[in-house]
Amino acid sequence: MNGPMPSMIAGGVLNQHLIDPEVCIRCNTCEETCPIDAITHDDTNYVVRAETCNGCMACVPPCPTGAIDNWRMVAREDAYSLEDQYGWDVLPAQGTVATSADAPGAEQQEPGGAREEAGDGLTVDTARGSQLPPWSAARPYVNLYTHKLPTTATVVGNYRLTAEDADSAIHHIVLDFGKLPFPVLEGQSIGILPPGGTADGRAHHARQYSIASPRDGERPGYNNLSLTVKRVRAARNDGRDGRDGVCSNYLCDLQKGDSVQVIGPFGHTFLMPNHPASDLLMICTGTGAAPMRAMTEYRRRKRLSGATGRLMLFFGARSADELPYFGPLTRLPKDFIDTNLAFSRSPDEPRRYVQDLMRARAPDVAALLRGEDSYIYVCGLKAMEEGVLQALAAIAEQEGLDWPVLWERLRREGRLHIETY
Ligand SMILES: Cc1cc2nc3c(=O)[nH]c(=O)nc-3n(C[C@H](O)[C@H](O)[C@H](O)COP(=O)(O)OP(=O)(O)OC[C@H]3O[C@@H](n4cnc5c(N)ncnc54)[C@H](O)[C@@H]3O)c2cc1C
Ligand code: SF4
Ligand code: SF4
Repeated sequence: MNGPMPSMIAGGVLNQHLIDPEVCIRCNTCEETCPIDAITHDDTNYVVRAETCNGCMACVPPCPTGAIDNWRMVAREDAYSLEDQYGWDVLPAQGTVATSADAPGAEQQEPGGAREEAGDGLTVDTARGSQLPPWSAARPYVNLYTHKLPTTATVVGNYRLTAEDADSAIHHIVLDFGKLPFPVLEGQSIGILPPGGTADGRAHHARQYSIASPRDGERPGYNNLSLTVKRVRAARNDGRDGRDGVCSNYLCDLQKGDSVQVIGPFGHTFLMPNHPASDLLMICTGTGAAPMRAMTEYRRRKRLSGATGRLMLFFGARSADELPYFGPLTRLPKDFIDTNLAFSRSPDEPRRYVQDLMRARAPDVAALLRGEDSYIYVCGLKAMEEGVLQALAAIAEQEGLDWPVLWERLRREGRLHIETY
């Protein structure tokens, strides 16, 4: 971390917390993490309110790019305003500041992780998932390619996963990096730079997509990876005000042989354990299937060389037609993965969400929660997060487990990972 001191006022000097617009991939993670709403954004940049940020550092570990970890010493009256920050294409350099940050009476705080002050003076961890990877996870590479220096991949496959007449169009897209290194791990994501720009003449910023293939390639031994991309359509009311999504439509329309500008990889915590006896509890909806597919496929390949850990999957979609990878999933052996599919809009069937199925399988979920070697992954639409955590809490209670204690332990041990968007 680059911010030895948090953003705070000391002797008239502010160590101002800023976000690097050249590196930021606009994933919203920091805005969600900040316990006091110090981060906001417009269509261009993510920015920090100087007068609100208290330098608690909660937003720093979850940021997948490190863009959040920027600090500039400024005289308090010269602090960069939100308007300044919205207008930046690059971060300003550190200028000279007349007043010393080490002035007598200057307060310093240790970077504190995801913490906020509770009314009684206690600090409370505000992150819902772990900010550490599993202890045995492989070391990820991050930020090898940036907005300034992207790499180029070639589309070697693009096909629709969901039924042609299904409402939701989800594509499986395979990108090949040829001879250029692009090392990834399951659970990481990449950024795609769509061509063109916004109405005000700026280049489009990158959009983030989870990697759906294992570390050794969509096809083992090839320098390629796959993505699971859902078209964001205005017509389906996905749009805030009726505009088709820029990047998802660009990606879904790509043809074999097309070139794509890629940045990343990103993500250093939502990673799978490497020790073969570890159990995975995976809970996802829609394109949240991407990292689960990557992990499952890695384990399937590893199984042949002795991975013994259990895999349990809860996967939700509106209907079987809209569930990406439905066919391949249902063909995986039952003794390899315990698959539970929840459909919320199946004709003639009651609505079922992943949390309903989890509750129905409470003893088996609890067995995993009890296990010292279980790792939990939640990925998909933001709306699912609350329900899944409630279901885990209810199951724990029903099965005689102390959820608050267990939850804290899972987070501390890098065993509960949540990625919703
Ligand atoms: C960690 C992470 C992992 C992700 N993984 C995946 C994945 O595996 N698969 C996947 O499909 N997605 C994934 N996403 C989501 C993805 O990054 C994109 O957000 C998504 O594809 C939409 O991007 P877009 O460019 O198509 O839409 P955008 O152009 O960004 O638009 C998004 C929405 O906002 C509306 N909107 C935006 N700007 C305006 C404006 N100025 N005026 C009017 N409306 C506007 C659009 O109508 C649209 O509905 C992930 C996101 C994160 C953070
Ligand atoms: S990349 Fe980092 S700074 Fe940018 S929005 Fe995501 S978490 Fe925030
Ligand atoms: S999480 Fe903490 S350091 Fe980050 S912006 Fe919010 S108050 Fe500032």
